[in-house]
Amino acid sequence: MTTRTWAAVTLFALVVALVVVVLLLVPWNDPAAPRAEQLAALRDLPADDVERGRAFHAALRPGSYGALAVGLVVALLLGLTPLGAKLVALGGRPFGDHWIAQALVGGLVVVLVADLVTLPFAAWRHAVVSRHGLSTQGWGGWTADLLKSYVVSAVIGGVALLVFYTVTRLAPRWWWALGAAGAAVLVVLLSLILPVVVEPVFNRFTPMAQGPLRTELMALAERDGAPVRDVLVADASRRTRAVNAYVSGIGPTRRIVVYDTLLREATPGEVKTVVAHELGHTSNDDVFTGTLIGALGAAAAVVTVFLLGSWGGLLRAAGVDSIAEPRAFPLLLAVVAVGALVATPVQALVSRQVERRADVHALTLTGDPATFEAMQRRLFAVNLGDPDPPPWHQLWSASHPSTVQRIAAARAFAEGDRP
Ligand SMILES: [Zn+2]
Repeated sequence: MTTRTWAAVTLFALVVALVVVVLLLVPWNDPAAPRAEQLAALRDLPADDVERGRAFHAALRPGSYGALAVGLVVALLLGLTPLGAKLVALGGRPFGDHWIAQALVGGLVVVLVADLVTLPFAAWRHAVVSRHGLSTQGWGGWTADLLKSYVVSAVIGGVALLVFYTVTRLAPRWWWALGAAGAAVLVVLLSLILPVVVEPVFNRFTPMAQGPLRTELMALAERDGAPVRDVLVADASRRTRAVNAYVSGIGPTRRIVVYDTLLREATPGEVKTVVAHELGHTSNDDVFTGTLIGALGAAAAVVTVFLLGSWGGLLRAAGVDSIAEPRAFPLLLAVVAVGALVATPVQALVSRQVERRADVHALTLTGDPATFEAMQRRLFAVNLGDPDPPPWHQLWSASHPSTVQRIAAARAFAEGDRP
């Protein structure tokens, strides 16, 4: 068999594995509540909150979709014309056109250009978020966060670029196999390391003060069979009014993290409901499922890039000889950008199903659908949510069921629970 045939067989096996994992580990038997019950939940929400949430999201959407469109056009422009290859070559020029300089400097320049063209949209977003009173961060703090995230992605991206182009040089025929394995390992490492290493760059964590709430949250986790080492409070109020909580770490390092904004805005019962939802993710191993899907998807993406990279027409358009050289990095990014377009709605669909199951877990664990509904109302009011976004927007990118779907589900649970 030729290398290409091996790659095609591998891709087939990866896609089959991906489909099997998605079918088996994602809960598909849990449909959204009927539309009539969603509309009943919508009618019960305070009209001015609904109005505010809708206005906020209507103001955000043009920027989000604008950034998506401009990002895609620029990726295609750099990848499918010789423009991107020239940019990479330019990055290597001061260093005698050495491949390491092209890979590292050229690669990061291309990433930076792609980031900079969408920067106005990010700024627009911050302006909208601030105008609607959701952000507590000034332009100084926003810029500092932006620079921090540039540094984090430059470090991760720089290492990835160096490793990738070292492998393509050492194994010109088989780099896709090593690359696929490496991408899968990287996804696993990032999902383990990111929470521990990157979170502290953006937030400070302090143990929650001893008291009834801390004791109850620890007991809730214990009762759920997922004991935690600690309950931490994140100083999220430095940048936002939005409320949230999550459970991170595995086994003995497991901890509950609660935003200080949540403690300020919500009642203790509502905090318990939010934490019970997060414990649902833990007990269903959703991080494991997500990481597995991400790892298989990343491996499949590398093999796809290899197979597309042997298509002469694409290489000619990009003005390169091989997909494996640093000058072809923009072409690689263009392929990834198109792939992301396909992956976004699929990821959103998987996420919504998983979130729905965590909601059911929270309802079962607390046995308190009334507080669950109160918390959904609070989340939507404080986070300026759109309680019932347009269907196309939900299909495209909603990671959670809508507020009205979650409230309708809680009411259905309450009905079912009644003797
Ligand atoms: Zn969740």
